[in-house]
Parts: sequence; structure tokens; C-alpha cells
Amino acid sequence: MARRIAHKEKVSALGEFGLIDRVRKLVGNPASAICGIGDDAAVLPLDPKKYLLLTADMLTEGVHFTNKTSGEAIGRKAIASSISDIAAMGGLPRYAVVSIGLKPSTSWAKVEAIYRGMRKIAKKFGTGIVGGDTVRHAKLVINVAMIGEVGKKHLVRRNGARPGDQIFVTGGLGRSLAGERHLRFIPRVDQAQYLVSRFKPNAMIDISDGLVADLGHILAQSRTGAVLEEASIPLNKGARLKDALYDGEDFELLFTMAKSKSWRLQNQRKGKFMFHRIGEVTKRRGIQLMTPAGRLKKAVIKGYTHF
Ligand code: ADP
Ligand code: MG
Repeated sequence: MARRIAHKEKVSALGEFGLIDRVRKLVGNPASAICGIGDDAAVLPLDPKKYLLLTADMLTEGVHFTNKTSGEAIGRKAIASSISDIAAMGGLPRYAVVSIGLKPSTSWAKVEAIYRGMRKIAKKFGTGIVGGDTVRHAKLVINVAMIGEVGKKHLVRRNGARPGDQIFVTGGLGRSLAGERHLRFIPRVDQAQYLVSRFKPNAMIDISDGLVADLGHILAQSRTGAVLEEASIPLNKGARLKDALYDGEDFELLFTMAKSKSWRLQNQRKGKFMFHRIGEVTKRRGIQLMTPAGRLKKAVIKGYTHF
């Protein structure tokens, strides 16, 4: 009986992450996979020194862009989103296959612009487009599946955060949609390479669902909690604190690092990168916000979810 009821449940009742969790339990994890469903990219065997990374991201009209967004911007975002996931594992992007669903009335000029946008950013990050699929669809939809590689010792997953770790982000947060940063962001590959080769974060994720939601993913997998210092969170132009906490698609990296290393990272003033320390990982579960006056309050856990 319970089972029949479960089958009638709508995905909107499960939520995006409840749904993914059920899919994960259903499909399991191949024994050879180092990491299957649950991180920014799957981690698979490649050679004695490296792992293969594999990620997929789907963009649809009306959700990830509008019918006013230029083809070039759509293509750019499609590839950049996947590169960002590879970066979040500490890896370098290599090859992509692109599947596209088009209305029959779509002009070639639009398709050409999409691929121009994809090629430009792919080239910049050393990624090649090597295939895909084309179908008819009621709305424009693009799926990018990308492989990358990471030195075994450079791999950073979501599950390594330890109590006492310091929490950092690579740039300003909030109002990504309003400010159209979600179309212009630069995937933080260079920052991630710098971090994994010199500091080795314990956990990392790219912020696509929002700071609190994505920190939540790290903490759930690491079985820890966190305190975020409100006054330390870098805000994008025009963004309020709540935008920085809950808006999606900032595509900055969020990472945690042992305290001893974090001093060194914070003191590297000469570097070209910005790393903002925004809080600390705690043994106590849940996310707490520390107000500028030093008062602690429980954070509401929410962010962007598709259902
Ligand atoms: P991200 O925001 O980093 O792209 P997602 O939140 O989309 O990550 O996905 C989280 C995890 O769930 C990833 O490991 C992803 O591969 C997996 N995932 C998402 N949707 C599905 C699906 N429909 N089937 C199998 N795995 C999925
Ligand atoms: Mg991600």
C-alpha cells in the first residue's frame, strides 16, 4: 500500500533533491566509480595518476534563459556551466558533446550564434566539442555532457569538510539573474587550479543553487554544520544579504580549508585572485548566521530548486 502511494507522488512533492536522492538509490553506484551521483561531477578511473570527470547540465528556455537571450549568451552559458562543475572537482575540462532540442521555426542564424558562443568559451578553456544530438522540441533546450580530468591528489569532493575548517568563496554573490552575471560568469578554473596545487581544500562546490543551499550540500555530505559571518559575505552590486544567501547561479566556488592553511591563503595579498573567508565549519549540524553584532541565528535552508 505504502508503495502504491509512493508511486503516485508528484516530483514537485519530492523536490529536486529528494528526487535525485531516489534516483541515486534506484540506480546505485557502479563498483568501479570513485564517485557516482551526488557531487559536481562523477569521478571515474582513468590512469594511475588521474581520474576522469563526467558532468551533464541541461539548460531550457524559460528557466535558464529567456526567449530574449542572445544565442551566443545561451551557448556560452551551456558550456560554462559544465566547465564550472569540472573546476569544482579540482579538474580541467577536456571534451563535450552537445544535445540540442529546437523548434522547427528556429533560424540557422540562432543556431550558429549558439555554437559560436559555445566555441569561444570552450576554446578559452581548452575544451573541444566532439559530438551531440539534434531533436525537435517545443522549446529551446541544450544539454552539455563534458569530460575532464583531475590529478588524483588534486581531487576535491563535497564530503571532506571538517569541523574547524574555514569557509571561502571566490567572488561576490547575489543578483546573478538580475545583473545577467549568469550569462557572463567566468568559470573559476584558474582559481581552482591554484587552490588544489597549493592549498588543497577539504571540500568544494560551485554555487549554482545559492550559497546556503550549496553549503548545505557540502555539510550534508560531510556530516557537519557551519557558522556564516554575515558581515564577511561579499555582495555583488545591488545585492542584499538575502540575495547573496539564496540567489542561484553565481557560479563562484565555495570551499572549506583547514584553519592552518587558511591563514596562508588569506595572507596572499599579491595574488590575482580574491578569496573571501565567510565562516567556519562546525561539529554542530545546521547553518547558523552570525550577525554583525555577534548574535547567532539559525539560517533558513532554501535556495533554487527546479521543483
Ligand atoms: P550541479 O548543480 O553541480 O550541476 P545537480 O544539483 O544538478 O549538480 O546534481 C547533483 C548530482 O545529482 C550530480 O551528481 C548529478 O550528476 C546528479 N543528477 C542530477 N540529476 C540526475 C538524474 N536525472 N539522473 C541521475 N543523476 C542525476
Ligand atoms: Mg555544481
